[in-house]
Amino acid sequence: MSHVIIFDIKRFAVHDGPGIRTTVFMKGCPLRCWWCHNPESQSPEPVAVDIERKVNGRKIDAKKTYGEKVDIGELMKIILRDQHFYQESGGGVTFSGGEPLMQPGALEELLALSKKHGLHTTIDTCGFAKREILERILPLTELFLYDIKNMDPELHRKYTGKDNALILSNADFLLENKAQVIFRIPVVPGVNTSDDEIEKMAAFIFQRRENLNEVHLLPYHRIAENKYLKLGIKYKLPDTGEPGARMMQNLKQRFESTGLEILIGG
Ligand code: SF4
Repeated sequence: MSHVIIFDIKRFAVHDGPGIRTTVFMKGCPLRCWWCHNPESQSPEPVAVDIERKVNGRKIDAKKTYGEKVDIGELMKIILRDQHFYQESGGGVTFSGGEPLMQPGALEELLALSKKHGLHTTIDTCGFAKREILERILPLTELFLYDIKNMDPELHRKYTGKDNALILSNADFLLENKAQVIFRIPVVPGVNTSDDEIEKMAAFIFQRRENLNEVHLLPYHRIAENKYLKLGIKYKLPDTGEPGARMMQNLKQRFESTGLEILIGG
């Protein structure tokens, strides 16, 4: 029996691809982005953390586990519960994470089963994966939500732990093979908002505008800080503020000069 390790399922999602969708969050990620909203997703295995619960006003020590191994057949039953909403809204299923390409066998099986049931399939990916994995899942994936984080390789290494050469060349591989791709740029002040980074990103997008669908700008939020505390992971952006509406609008206008539709948010 095949399994997949997931840490969440979101039904009725409306920001992870077209229409109403079920988003499955898969465990494991090769990157360690400083601003990651889901640090509980990064380790490939379920993680148990110590927490305090209140019972009848008294604090007691307890454990919370992030992640579980689930049977793929059972997961498909959950995904198919909302088939009617997908059909009505042009939606489907999205595999996110963490990084879904970290569990290639399970992902391929889930995509193939979803396609068999006529569902629109989307992957939300950081793009850091072996080319052969992308080759396998490309025919089963109708839309790639593809992260572009830093253009400068040194900055990318600093803020995510990995070089961006593989990510950028995988993006080109998908575009050259006529995949439907939306670039998603997390806007993190001080991390990827310098004039130099923005100019390089705009140039990268402009050169690929013929094959790209859209670009989404995702404003950084500080919502995950507590999760880092619980997991015992150092939060590396303690002094970084969220980008204001003006900064997001300025970036939107800058990227609109590429001729593409630019959305703020997913
Ligand atoms: S790629 Fe996504 S899930 Fe992985 S560390 Fe970065 S933000 Fe988190």
